[in-house]
Amino acid sequence: MALYQDQQLKVTNSLSGKKETFVPLNSPNVGMYVCGPTVYSDVHLGNCRTFISFDMIYRYLSHLGYKVRYVRNITDAGHLENDADEGEDKIAKKARLEQLEPMEIVQRYTVDFRNIMSSFNALPPSIEPTATGHIVEQIAMIEEIMDKGLAYEVKGSVYFDVNKYNKETHYGILSGRNIEELISGTRDLDGQSEKRSPIDFALWKKASPMHIMRWPSPWSVGFPGWHLECSVMSSKYLGQEFDIHGGGMDLKFPHHECEIAQNHAANGKHAVKYWLHTNMLTLNGQRMSKSTGNTVLPGELFTGNNKLLVKGFAPSVVRFFMMQAHYSSMLDFSNDALLAAEKGYFRLMDALKNLDKITPAQSSNFDVTAWRQKCYDAMNDDFNSPILIAHIFDAVKAINAATDGKQQFNKQDLALLKETLSGFVFDILGLANTAETNSDSKKLDAAMNVLIAMRNRARNDKNWALSDAIRDELLANGIVLKDGKDGTTYSVE
Ligand SMILES: [Zn+2]
Repeated sequence: MALYQDQQLKVTNSLSGKKETFVPLNSPNVGMYVCGPTVYSDVHLGNCRTFISFDMIYRYLSHLGYKVRYVRNITDAGHLENDADEGEDKIAKKARLEQLEPMEIVQRYTVDFRNIMSSFNALPPSIEPTATGHIVEQIAMIEEIMDKGLAYEVKGSVYFDVNKYNKETHYGILSGRNIEELISGTRDLDGQSEKRSPIDFALWKKASPMHIMRWPSPWSVGFPGWHLECSVMSSKYLGQEFDIHGGGMDLKFPHHECEIAQNHAANGKHAVKYWLHTNMLTLNGQRMSKSTGNTVLPGELFTGNNKLLVKGFAPSVVRFFMMQAHYSSMLDFSNDALLAAEKGYFRLMDALKNLDKITPAQSSNFDVTAWRQKCYDAMNDDFNSPILIAHIFDAVKAINAATDGKQQFNKQDLALLKETLSGFVFDILGLANTAETNSDSKKLDAAMNVLIAMRNRARNDKNWALSDAIRDELLANGIVLKDGKDGTTYSVE
């Protein structure tokens, strides 16, 4: 019997705002689509959180025995600046600034993105389709929507007729907005827009002479609108109706609202059964922003090479930190929070190592079966990873007590405890087993503390030749010393 028959999963559906029992359309198959990155710059840490959350969801669904097809796209065309229908394509702009081909930009940031995701131990999706690989299908969907009378052409561009759609089907069901509100919220300042209504959105845009990413279509040489690719690729690979659609909550409107309208206009169906949205993250209590300097890239987080960080943190520690908050709650990054997560992570890894050293007793005084169900209950409750981690630490306490002889497990319980912990910690939370790295990094810390102390002694003795040599030779080996008001720290490049 598959686990999902025993364990009743509930998910919070953004469409209803309620926790609903998860019943796949075609069990044991589950289709899940997640909006992927626009590959024109380094992946944002907030986006990493979204993809790591859905990786955990993908892992849990698979653990329960579902056959999951997980589709996450790569946006490599059509995403304009300011997420609106005007302006330059984000990828084309970067290509122009760096004097590269757009596909060189796409390649560079796709490879970077995959490397970062694999350092976070995120599994690759089952299919990772690109917008440029599905131009033909996008043109076909526009034709279907036009056939239904829900899109119109103006001067080589095609727009979705939101007012007409709204007469038959409510536009705004996901974000809870209504059309009057939306119209009064838009300002068509110059009155020059070729759209019938300011809330209409582009399905196809005629390319200006400047626009280098362009394809032929029945209407003009141009490019697809940003929202279209997700409707097309989700229905192509998961069917006209599928189970889960995920993404960051900033995509709810307009992106996901437009996806719903496009799918419904094309085939008369609401494509998605459960909409799941992840929340944002902040840094030191404030929004991350390049312009204010309050920002950290994932790579900097690993090396510590950023003035906002006291040191680098292993990807598994960062992942563990993210898992300590529910995916739909805000999460604040700070040195203190990361240091605390690191301590907790190492405590957990040490306990897992100690588990092998426990000798089975005749009887148990820890109810492993009940504890195991509590772990499942946490995950069944809309993937509540923070509650799961609290239960895991109850087991850590019991393991530590057992190594001190204050707790005992019989043979069967010990085996069940090992199997359950390894399932939840490695397979579901997706933490990498870096116990070796742990002791290595502790050793490196210890060695660096010795060198920093020697350099401080040299500086006190005004032996600048020695203190500079220590700094320079470390630098030549990729280790940077940083002198701050609280002493000297180091980072590994
Ligand atoms: Zn999307």
